[in-house]
Formats: sequence, structure tokens, C-alpha cells
Amino acid sequence: MKKLSLTAKILIGIILGLIVGVVLNLYFPNVFKPLNEYLFDPASQLFIKAIKMIVVPLVFFSLASGAAGIADPKKLGRIGVKTIVLYLFTTAVAITFALILANVIQPGVGTDIAKSAEKPEIEKAPSVMDTLVNIVPENPVQAMANADMLQIIFFALLFGIGMALLKDKVVRVREFIDQGNEIMLKLVTIIMATAPYAAFALMARAVGEAGIDLIGSMAWYMVTLLLALLIHMLVTYSTLLTVLAKYNPVKFFKSMGRAMEVAFTTSSSAATLPVTMDVVEKDFKVPKSISSFVLPLGATINMDGTAIMQGVAAIFISQLYGIPLGLEQQLMIILTATLASVGTAAVPGAGLIMLTLVLQTVGLPVEGIAIVLGVDRLLDMSRTATNITGDACVAVIVAKGEKGKEEEETTTAA
Ligand code: ASP
Repeated sequence: MKKLSLTAKILIGIILGLIVGVVLNLYFPNVFKPLNEYLFDPASQLFIKAIKMIVVPLVFFSLASGAAGIADPKKLGRIGVKTIVLYLFTTAVAITFALILANVIQPGVGTDIAKSAEKPEIEKAPSVMDTLVNIVPENPVQAMANADMLQIIFFALLFGIGMALLKDKVVRVREFIDQGNEIMLKLVTIIMATAPYAAFALMARAVGEAGIDLIGSMAWYMVTLLLALLIHMLVTYSTLLTVLAKYNPVKFFKSMGRAMEVAFTTSSSAATLPVTMDVVEKDFKVPKSISSFVLPLGATINMDGTAIMQGVAAIFISQLYGIPLGLEQQLMIILTATLASVGTAAVPGAGLIMLTLVLQTVGLPVEGIAIVLGVDRLLDMSRTATNITGDACVAVIVAKGEKGKEEEETTTAA
């Protein structure tokens, strides 16, 4: 018998977990409680913790070693600008799809649940300027202790540039960083061997807790959102990959399966980062110098799936409350949802908090969030899978562009 691939095993874990979760929720809620307490919940937490444990050292080692490898400030700048432009562009396209679909399907028209919603507790969203100033850490050790991704990225980049400038004087530190990176990648492989079991536990926990009765009333909202995610992945990513990177999208999505499954079960781009890096470096042969910059940055600021949710949710809520939005306000949603998704933390449920920003900007009632809250867990899974796929897509495109540039440079130099 052929050995099952890791992707297939995780998928089996997800499906079994889903079935067990539904059955327990519907027929044996009393059995679910102890099972969850002693099995599903601890197993889920262990896996997420283990994989998160790798993120900070992995990002630091891999980005410092990658940046030292690039050294040329012009090249670093070029990669940075290209990456950020592509991230913003794909996110804006994503929300546009979301708005078009939400306006056509009209998931909120004819439903009357707005009044019964309870008030959610809403955290305040940070301002754009604060986020920018905060990129520079006051204390890099604290940045790592807090797992503040943008700050770690900033420090690791500088560290790598420092190493590159000192060249032979720091060979030993460079070796240490390079080997540290190898070790972290090895740990990813070890932890990922437990992913199928973790996927089972995570699914059983999520479905067992939430149940499926909520799903019925929110079906159209969910359908619209999932459709937008799917269209964005199939149309935008496939087109960009084919046109800009000459990369076969079928091959791309096949390899991404493994990372998407982990994103789906953990609902966190940050926790999935080690796996995304693994796939992008091994399967797509993106050089570490590029992936180590593009992917951690993407996990932090590029969230197409989250932006799609914010777009669809805003229109949905406006329809529920009977507050029509004009073209100008919808354009405003594109702008604010792009910014809000940039500011969204790469952890479960964060996108919903940032939705307040979008709702407030266009004058929609923030209480609307309570309505979408119930089904958000399931949608969070799907949008996180989209988020990390977008990061990987941009990494492939940037790598292809750099390869072209290098070839050009060698031919002109010859
Ligand atoms: N869970 C998402 C992520 O980590 C963020 C969100 O809530 O939309 O990518």
C-alpha cells in the first residue's frame, strides 16, 4: 500500500474530527464535555503551542540569514517595494470581489435578526500611524518575548544587514544563524508529524462547541463569504501566478494543501507560518532570502481572506439594518478594509475586532458584529487558509521576478 501523504492524513483528521464533533454536539453533549476537557482541548492547545513556539526563533534566524545573503540594499529595497505593492493590490482586489458578490447575492436582505443581537465587547483598533511607529522596537528581546512580528522583522533585517556589512569578521555568528535556521525547520517537520491528530482534536473541539444549528440562519452570509474566498483564490491567485510567475496554479494549490489545512485547523496565519515557509521553500523552490522576508511580513500584514470577510460582513450588516450604502461608501470600505486587514493580528478571531474600524468609518452600527460572531469560527478557518495562500502566491511571484533580474544582470555583466 502506498504511504499516505501528510496532506491526506491531515485531511482525514479534519473529516473525522468534523463527524465526531457533530455527533457529540447533537446526541451526546454530556460525553463531549469531559472528552473535550481531557482530550480535544489539551491536544489542540499542545499543537498550537508547539507550532507557535517555533515562530519567533524561525522568523529571526531565517530572516537574519536571508538578509545577510542579499546584502545589496538596492535588491532588498526592490523586493520590499514589490512585496508590499503586491500585498496591497491583492487585498484590494479581494475586497472588490467581496463587495460585488455581497451586492449581488444580498445575504442580509429579508433576514430580521438584527434586533435580538446582544452587544459584543469591542476592543479598540490601533491607529495606522501607531502601527507604523511601532515597527521599530525599543527592546528587541521584549519584541521577541511578545512575539511582535513587525518588530522582530525589523530587528532581524537590520541584524542580517549588519552581518553582511561585516562579512568575514562575523563568520561564526553567520554560521550560527544559518544552522539555527536549519534546526528550526527540522523542528517544524517533527511537530508536523503530529498534525493529523491535532487536526482531529481541533475540529472536534470547534464543531463540538459551536454546533451546527447556528449555521442555518446565517447560510447566505456564509455562502457569499466562502464563494468570495474561493473566487479570489481561483481567479486572482491563478491569474497572477500564470501571468507574473509562469507557474502552474494546479501545482501551486496541490502543494499548498498541507499549509492550508494547518491554517484551517489553527485559524492563525502566525501559527501556520513555519509550514507555509516549508512549502514555499521546498515545493516552490523560493530562495530563503526571499521567503524569509516575504512570508513573515505577509502573515502579519497581508490578509486577503480577512479583508473579504470585512467587506461581506459590512454589506451584510448594512442590509440587515436597512442602511443602504452608496458607491462612495463602498469605495471607502475597500480602503478601510485594506488598512484594517493590514492591522489585523494573525491570531484566531482578530479580523472580527478590526471589523469595527470598517463599520465605524461608513457609519454602520458596531453591534452588527454580534450577529456574525456566532458563525465566525468556521469562517475564520477558511479565511486564514486564504490569507496564507495569498502570502505564498506573492512569494512565488517575487522570487520569479528576482530570478529574471539576476539572469539579466549576469548577461549584461558577461
Ligand atoms: N485568523 C486570521 C489569521 O490569522 C485573522 C482573522 O481573524 O481574520 O490570518
